[in-house]
Amino acid sequence: MKKDIALRLTPQEASNEKYYKDIVAKKMKVHPDKITAIRVRKRSIDARQRQVMVQLHLEAFANAPAPEKEFVTFEYQNVSDKPEVIVVGAGPGGLFAALRLVELGFKPIVLERGKDVNERKKDIALLNRNNPVDPESNYAFGEGGAGTFSDGKLYTRSTKRGDFNKVLHVLHFHGAQDDILVDSHPHIGTDRLPGVIKKMRESIITAGGEVLFNATVTDLVIEDSSVKGLVLKDGTNIKAKAVVLATGHSARDVYTMLDNRAIELEAKTWAMGVRVEHPQELIDQIQYHSPDGRGEYLPAASYNFSCQVQERGVYSFCMCPGGFIVPAMTGENEMVVNGMSPSKRNSPYANSGMVVEVRPEDIPDEFRKQGVLAGLAYQKEVERLCYINGGKNLIAPAQRLTDFVDSRLSFDLPPTSYVPGTIASPLHFVLPYGISNRLQEGFKQFGKWANGFLDPEAIILGTESRTSSPLRIPRDPLSLQHVHIGGCSLVVKVPVMLEELPLRPLMERSVPMQLLGCWESSCIRKITSVLFSIFWWSSGGMTIKQSLVKWRDESILVRMKSNISVRLNLNDLCKLNIENDNLRCLIFWKQLVDAMPPFVIPFLSSLKFRHDDGCGC
Ligand SMILES: Cc1cc2nc3c(=O)[nH]c(=O)nc-3n(C[C@H](O)[C@H](O)[C@H](O)COP(=O)(O)OP(=O)(O)OC[C@H]3O[C@@H](n4cnc5c(N)ncnc54)[C@H](O)[C@@H]3O)c2cc1C
Repeated sequence: MKKDIALRLTPQEASNEKYYKDIVAKKMKVHPDKITAIRVRKRSIDARQRQVMVQLHLEAFANAPAPEKEFVTFEYQNVSDKPEVIVVGAGPGGLFAALRLVELGFKPIVLERGKDVNERKKDIALLNRNNPVDPESNYAFGEGGAGTFSDGKLYTRSTKRGDFNKVLHVLHFHGAQDDILVDSHPHIGTDRLPGVIKKMRESIITAGGEVLFNATVTDLVIEDSSVKGLVLKDGTNIKAKAVVLATGHSARDVYTMLDNRAIELEAKTWAMGVRVEHPQELIDQIQYHSPDGRGEYLPAASYNFSCQVQERGVYSFCMCPGGFIVPAMTGENEMVVNGMSPSKRNSPYANSGMVVEVRPEDIPDEFRKQGVLAGLAYQKEVERLCYINGGKNLIAPAQRLTDFVDSRLSFDLPPTSYVPGTIASPLHFVLPYGISNRLQEGFKQFGKWANGFLDPEAIILGTESRTSSPLRIPRDPLSLQHVHIGGCSLVVKVPVMLEELPLRPLMERSVPMQLLGCWESSCIRKITSVLFSIFWWSSGGMTIKQSLVKWRDESILVRMKSNISVRLNLNDLCKLNIENDNLRCLIFWKQLVDAMPPFVIPFLSSLKFRHDDGCGC
């Protein structure tokens, strides 16, 4: 006899099959000894009420042996002599496309700019030791793409692009844990993903496909509006009748190449912001409504917030319970963070992107001359600002969450999972106003919904900019090929809006100058030192040593919006004699902020100055 049974149990009860076996037996009207197997088909946690409950959907067998547990398997046909299709990129999109091509009777040839997953791990380890970013091998590029060193969250239940269940079964078939077929919020974990990805590659190769590494595609060969081939970085030409571009949101060179070749692209909405991190224990306490946290039987808690601020969405993105913040930049002069978790989600930290929707019309005018690439240029500029306000390496600019919300600088920073390190930075000021201001409001709202979320031990790091691409490559809905270029199918997505709506230019703030004008001169002196330090910090192009060489025995004139100028005396600065670039902001801020009257702080975020490199004040 087989019966499907739904149970609602406490976490402790749900963890103990012996306990619920009796309940199942009662429901099946048999003695517990007659139960031959109980299998969990679906599991979810309901934390809406004070008492957290676990919902189990079970399949129970009694009186006769239970049939073997069956999993979906895949048999990939031999395609070695079938027509070839080039797949560019071995990220999740490329790997799934290649397996699908095998199913459809084509021979996939996957070209990947990065290294195989084992070699890639070594580059990731170097990155975490603050070595320079290898533009071909990093958290986004290499086998498995941005999906390898990720949380491996598989939360989507959208059927817009096909059967999400099949994706789960393919991943399970290639080594992902059984739980992903059962949990309502499944995740694989970064420790297990490389093994899964390796097996997917093996399936492609065993079926007769090919996977080539260190193969960066730099150009397309197009004749008569049809793709005829590809050019690799080393000059190799590859003939191709059909190409699947699955190069992901970080392949800016690919978008640029397509734009240079006048291939139609479309601007689209994306999102940028910061990554916020709390102690996991605090999130457990908040989400499970208990001062004891998650206890023995519940997983690390997650959250999901979203609200509207000034007509734009502000939301949590890619929340990683028990995870780590990682450096996800792909090139020089970029500061990008993201989050990942191991399968057990057992780090003491909970991180999440907190981002603001950016529409094409929100892009400041100065980037618009770049046409359809304006979003990329704006995204890049925000990453550059975070880079120069960080350690000008992989050290991330950071701020206490509560200080960010109050537009205050952080004197010091709480511990974080981000291994390369953090440096105190006024992110409320560094980020474009449209983003920082909305984030501040969003955080306040989330703090109201989740009492304790606005905790001084929470930290934010800049910047979470690669939520998706600011561009999409338009496809014909029927043929799925590019709208104009035949033979080129693109694994890229999302919609567009292009209304005109003036936004403040990046990094400009208006000044309540009348207030500045009536401050006493002793105050002005202190304020000007702070102004200088912000200016110097935000200009970002100098170490202290360099700036002293440039500005020794001089005063600096900061010209304000309404023609009031403030002159800075540099004598005090000269005494500092700090040569360590990475310590400069922290030490300097401590000294300045100590000397500053508290009422000055709210005005700092409303000051206007330009973000030129060097000392162009
Ligand atoms: C740290 C981190 C954590 C994440 N966590 C999650 C998560 O938990 N759940 C989730 O759903 N999503 C997560 N994401 C996002 C997810 O990884 C991406 O949405 C997904 O990887 C996109 O897949 P893709 O194949 O389209 O692109 P990508 O993964 O970006 O793959 C593109 C591939 O193309 C290659 N490539 C690019 N240009 C070229 C070229 N010119 N020539 C040859 N090869 C090229 C790249 O090297 C890369 O391997 C995370 C991302 C990061 C960075």
